[in-house]
Amino acid sequence: MRLTFFFLLVLFSSSFAQNSSHDYVYQLPFESGKTVLIMQGYNGKYSHKNKFALDFRLKKGKFICAARGGKVVKMVEHNNEGGGNIKFINKANYIVIAHDDATYGGYWHLEQNGALVEVGDSVNAGDIIGRSGSTGFSSMAHLHFMVYSYDKKGKQYTMPTFFNTKNKGIRHLKSYSWVKRN
Ligand SMILES: [Zn+2]
Repeated sequence: MRLTFFFLLVLFSSSFAQNSSHDYVYQLPFESGKTVLIMQGYNGKYSHKNKFALDFRLKKGKFICAARGGKVVKMVEHNNEGGGNIKFINKANYIVIAHDDATYGGYWHLEQNGALVEVGDSVNAGDIIGRSGSTGFSSMAHLHFMVYSYDKKGKQYTMPTFFNTKNKGIRHLKSYSWVKRN
């Protein structure tokens, strides 16, 4: 009797978990079949302290793909400066996509005129949305990606997410690892 109850509880909680936004499985934000290095992961020492953000090493001009579908709500692509100095923090080009659960996907450091979508566009996971670069606070071309939301006071917070990888299955991504997209 007790065991049956436990079993039902496990069943219920696992189906609940699959429906919660926290367990949504994201696509890697670059082209299918490519293998890319994660230069900096969650809580990284360089610029991700207390932040769930990921830096994918992508040379300038490489395609960036939507990690999850949604609607483009912000886009900046006029900037043409960047470097490993905090003074460049507001010089990044970027795209923000709103997901259907009040979370947002942020794609940072695109090259100048590197956004291939407009505000208001709907995109699906895997769609090409832009080209990588090194604008803003960035010492080398890469894509900074993060999923975030806002608390009741309007303060932004980032969150860890699962990714689908061809070489490592479904997982949280780690610094200095190579990940291949399906
Ligand atoms: Zn970053």
